[in-house]
Order: sequence, then C-alpha cells, then structure tokens
Amino acid sequence: MNCPECSTQEVFGSNVFSDVTMRERLPKNAYKTFRLVQQGKAELDRATADVIANAMKDWAIEKGATHYCHWFQPMTGTTAEKHDSFISPTADGRVMMEFSGKELSQGEPDASSFPSGGLRATFEARGYTAWDCTSPVFIKKDGKNITLFIPCAFCSYTGDALDKKTPLLRSMDVLDKQAVRVLKALGTKSTSVIATLGPEQEYFLVDKKFVEKRLDLMLCGRTIFGAPSPRGQELEDHYFGSLNERVASFMFELNTELWKLGVSAKTQHNEVAPAQYELAPVFSTVNVATDHNQLTMETMQKVAIRHGMVCLLNEKPFAGVNGSGKHNNWSMVTNDGINLLEPGVTPHDNMVFLVFLCAVVRAVDKYAKLMRASVANAGNEHRLGANEAPPAIVSIFLGDQLTDIFEQLAAGGAKTSKKGGELKLGVSTLPPLPKDSTDRNRTSPFAFTGNKFEFRMVGSTQSTAGPTFVLNTIVADVLDEFASELEKASDITKATQKLVQRIAKDHMRIVFNGDNYTAEWAKEAEKRGLPNLKSTVESLECLGDKEYIELFKKHKVLSKNELHARTEILLDAYSMMINIEARTMVQMANRQILPACIDYAGNLASSVIAVEDAGIAADAQKAKLIEINDLIAAMDKGTRELEQIKDKAASTSNAVKKARAFHDEVKPAMATVRAAADKLETIVDALIWPMPTYAEMLFIK
Ligand code: ADP
Ligand code: MG
Repeated sequence: MNCPECSTQEVFGSNVFSDVTMRERLPKNAYKTFRLVQQGKAELDRATADVIANAMKDWAIEKGATHYCHWFQPMTGTTAEKHDSFISPTADGRVMMEFSGKELSQGEPDASSFPSGGLRATFEARGYTAWDCTSPVFIKKDGKNITLFIPCAFCSYTGDALDKKTPLLRSMDVLDKQAVRVLKALGTKSTSVIATLGPEQEYFLVDKKFVEKRLDLMLCGRTIFGAPSPRGQELEDHYFGSLNERVASFMFELNTELWKLGVSAKTQHNEVAPAQYELAPVFSTVNVATDHNQLTMETMQKVAIRHGMVCLLNEKPFAGVNGSGKHNNWSMVTNDGINLLEPGVTPHDNMVFLVFLCAVVRAVDKYAKLMRASVANAGNEHRLGANEAPPAIVSIFLGDQLTDIFEQLAAGGAKTSKKGGELKLGVSTLPPLPKDSTDRNRTSPFAFTGNKFEFRMVGSTQSTAGPTFVLNTIVADVLDEFASELEKASDITKATQKLVQRIAKDHMRIVFNGDNYTAEWAKEAEKRGLPNLKSTVESLECLGDKEYIELFKKHKVLSKNELHARTEILLDAYSMMINIEARTMVQMANRQILPACIDYAGNLASSVIAVEDAGIAADAQKAKLIEINDLIAAMDKGTRELEQIKDKAASTSNAVKKARAFHDEVKPAMATVRAAADKLETIVDALIWPMPTYAEMLFIK
C-alpha cells in the first residue's frame, strides 16, 4: 500500500481492460468493430471475438492472472463468479494458456441453486451467461488468486432473465429509444440518450472482535437485541466529523483498491450515526455504476477485515440510530453531452429541460407504487418512515425555483425564473457566495438536486439495478406518450407549451417541498391521494397489478412471467430473512441471554438469603430479583411463542401469505422478546451480560 511513487493517476484503472488499453492492444479493425458492438450498431463476429479474447488473455496473464470468470448478478442481489483457468493441455503433456472468443462471449454455469422464482426447474437447469460489453472487463485479486472478470448477463434456457442486469440493460434501450423520439420532435440533433447514476453508499464499521461475539451481527448483519447506548447521535458530532485514524486508513486503502478497478470513488465522510460512513463515486452510466456499486460493497467488506473491522451494509444495523441507504443520483445525458435535467439559467424557457422534467414528474406520480416496490426489502422496512429516512410515501422535492415555474405553468404559462442571488456572510474578509436558486431538502424521497434527481429510498444492501430499471422504464413510458403527442403537432412550440402546462396542472399533488418526516405530511399525502405502502409485502403485492404487467411487457423490460418470478423471489427473500432473524433470536435468547440472567437472578437470591441470615433486611435485592425474575419469565414465554409462530409462518406455502405471516405475526413476536431482553440488559450485571453493548460497538473504534 505504501507506494508514494505510484501516483493516483497511474493506479486508477490499472486493473481495467479499458478503452485506452483496448486501443493499444487491439488491431485497428477489431477495435472499430468492438466500438460498434458496444453502441449496439453491430454484432460481434467470431473472428473479432477471438482477437479480443486473445488480447484480454495476454493482458491478464501479464498481470499475473491464471483464471477468467463470467461475473453476473443473480436475483440474490449480490454477485456470482465461477472461475475457469486459461490452461489447455497439449499432446506432449504440457499446457498452453488459451481463451477463445466463444469463452469470452458466452458461458454456461450450471448455477441451478440461484433463485429463479419458478422460471426454471432444477432438472432443466441450464443457465447462460452472456458478456455485457458495455461494462469493462477487469482483473480482481483475492488473496493470491488473480482472475480476469467478465461482466455478464444471466438468463435461462428459454431466454428469461434470471438476474438484475438484463432488465437494466433492456430499460436503457427503451429509455434511449423514447427519449430520442421526444428530442427529435423537439428539433434537437441528439441521436442517443443514456441514463446516468451516482450512487452514494452508506455503511457502518464495527470492530471485528465485537461482531464475533454477536450471533445476530454474524448471521443477520444487524443487531436483533440491544438496549440503546446512553449516548446516541443526539450531539450530531459524528456527522462530517474528523476521521478517526483507523477509519481513515481503511478509507485510504478502500479508495486505492477501488481506483485500481476503475471505480471513481470521490467523496468520503462520517455519516450521522456513530460508526456510520459514506462513500460517493463520480457518476457514470447506470450499467457501469451498478457494476461499480457491487464492487464497492464487496471491496468495503474485504478491506474492513484487513483493518480488523467488519463493514455492515444492512439498512438497519442498530435500532435508535440512523440506518443506511443508498442515494441514487440519476439523470439522462445525450450523445452530444447535454444533461437533460440541467435547467440552465432560465429554466422557464428551456423547453427541452421542462419536457424531460415533466416526464419524470408524471412518471413518478403515475407509478409511485412501483418506485416504492423497487426499494422493498426486509432491512429497508425498518428504515422507511422511521423518522430518519424518507417515509414510504413517494413525493418529489422540486425546490423553490422549479415549484414556482410549475405553478406558473399550471396557471397558464411560465414567464420568469426566480434567481438565486448572492449570499452575504457579513464578514468583510469573506467574499459573497453565489447562491443556488434552490435550497436542499434532506427528507424527500425523490429530490431534484440542481441537475439530477436523487432517489433516497434505496436500501444500502440493494443492487442499484432494480430501482434504476424501474425509473428508466417509467420515464420511458411517459416519454413514449409525449413523443406520440408531439410527433403529431403542427406547431411544436404551442404543442410543447400545452403539454408542460397540462402536466404541471395534473401532477402538482406529487410535489412536496416540506418536511417529509412529520405526521402532518402523512395526513396531507392521504388527502392528496398518494399511496403510503408501509410494508414490504403490501408494496410487492402491487407488482401483480395488470397495469404494471402491461407496462413492463409493452417496453419488453420484463415479461409477465419474469415479473411474477421476481415478485416471488423478493417475497421469499423477505420471509427467509425474517426467519433467519427469528431463529437467531431464539438461539441467542435460549443460549446466551436467558442463562446469563438466570445466573444473575441466582446471585441475587443467594444475596437475599445471606443478607437476611445476617439479620438485615434485603428489600433492594428482593425488589431487583422480582423485577428480573418477571422479565426472565416474560422473555422465556415470548421466546417459546416466537418459536411456534415462526415455524407456523415458515410452513405457509403461498409466498404472499407467508411474507404476511412473517410481517404480521413473527415481527411483533420478535419485538416482545426484544423488549424484555433490552430491559434486562439495562439492569443486569455488566460483567455477566453475554455480548457487547451498543455503546461498545458504536463508540470503540
Ligand atoms: P450530496 O451528498 O450533496 O448529494 P455527493 O457529492 O455526496 O452530494 O453525491 C452526489 C452524487 O451525484 C455523486 O455520486 C455525483 O457523481 C452524482 N451526480 C452528479 N451529477 C450527476 C448526473 N448528472 N447524473 C447522475 N449522477 C450525478
Ligand atoms: Mg446526496
């Protein structure tokens, strides 16, 4: 790591078979063909594939690689890899290092154990991986093992998508097609549009020695017991605080590792909760950003271990302090470099901007339930609406300037744009600062932040693919409507004005610039008719609605079967996660917490006898003993009940009913056990308590 001479510039992308490397190493014609393939303008022929594969192999071997792997993103939400070596035996008993175009382009891992939601049965388990040439190939080093990684899509024998990447790629195509239609109707020269993404990743770091003593952290990635620390996040002194040295060293190494992989890790800081941090990359195309976010999560976990820490990515590792999200910053850019969500100086007369802004606003209002469903998982259920993260109600923050323009449009036409002006600090030595035309809003689930939208409901463990393909598809759907309207117009200016005025009038209800954490907003949102789907099950159930099946089918992003399979997988994942948490809870209660408390009750009982034997009243001991004994009884009863309730829930066969049982019955039963245990933690001898406390885990660094 200590390598002052190797500059960041040299490190960056050093393990990526990048465009520059490709240009250097490929014959001109092969490079040209590849670029056309990448842009979807040509198909990869076998001869060119062989040439590219060979160049990749030589490059990888120079870097010490012995294997290659098709790297894909199954529905588990993480990544999968199966390594094959380059060796090929020769007749004379030696080996050659080989890698063919076929091996690069396509793989057939058996991979039958990944969730498919019924899309394939295990007995007909063929699954195929196909090279996604829009995301660069790279080298990853795990211990001594060096492997060439090939980003891939993963599908079944029948061509059904079995992964996160395929629908994302499909949604990019639709967005491109529909956005270009609109741009053409508006008279611009752009010929393609691509969605961009910059996901900010939140995470916790906890000393490994604590994690090893907590079965819940080891198995569930979150604490399922734990009384609040006497000091939490109320002083707000951790947020943006100076970096602890151990954490700073971790970040340094993390950045270096990510830079090698071409991940442009840019911003890092302490987050709100103690022991919570954030990393933000420079944005890229949604596809590359999704791959890079997976690499970021994986690298965070690996590097943390090297520093004696564990990186917790779960949405809610600790009750009572903030959970972790992923802020998905999203926009669209044309091939000639125009950010379609860049308002410019006078947004009210920037028609292209207004049309695309209106498309997003209408899409989010029309498909709010889909947006909610796209961020639904067991961990995020603890976060959304818990007064620290956006609520489960989807709304849009537009800010003063754009809201004003929207109001003008709704009233018949926009004539002016409010200006930001200057910020004077009242100190003669400080220069006046140019002020943005709009302040920020940290509580909004979907906020306009200058030249992009920031989707803040996404969970920290989630692949960015899901929420992003949903956003791409719903915006594409509305752009399709817009294009059909504008293409018919005889006077495009008038038609566009009419369109944006109508959208502003129809969709004002989704715009909310106030504090999203308040109870008043929940009431107001209900009045406005905005959905408030608090639970994962409720939100996932909506995916069966005809409207949504038609939407994904129409744009060929997901077939009815694929959507159904995904819904089942997500529901199952929810049930399984809570089942694991419930089983862990029962074990920790029976084998750790109850025995410790029973020991302590025994000590107290002995003390009562000894003190009374000495002729002294033992009222305090007795009172404590009674309190503790009652809590032990309550906890024991709760644990026995939980065991039965979870077994019953787990035996339900229908996926929706099962997830409902876990939500409606198992979760409350867990809350009962936890309440008794957490109370016990605050009154039982610290020396007997069998696991590290919140204070230790959050404050010892
Ligand atoms: P903040 O915390 O103020 O929201 P950050 O700098 O932490 O800002 O994160 C902003 C993220 O938005 C970065 O990942 C940045 O690259 C990304 N971003 C900026 N412009 C765009 C864009 N046009 N499209 C997508 N993401 C963008
Ligand atoms: Mg942000």
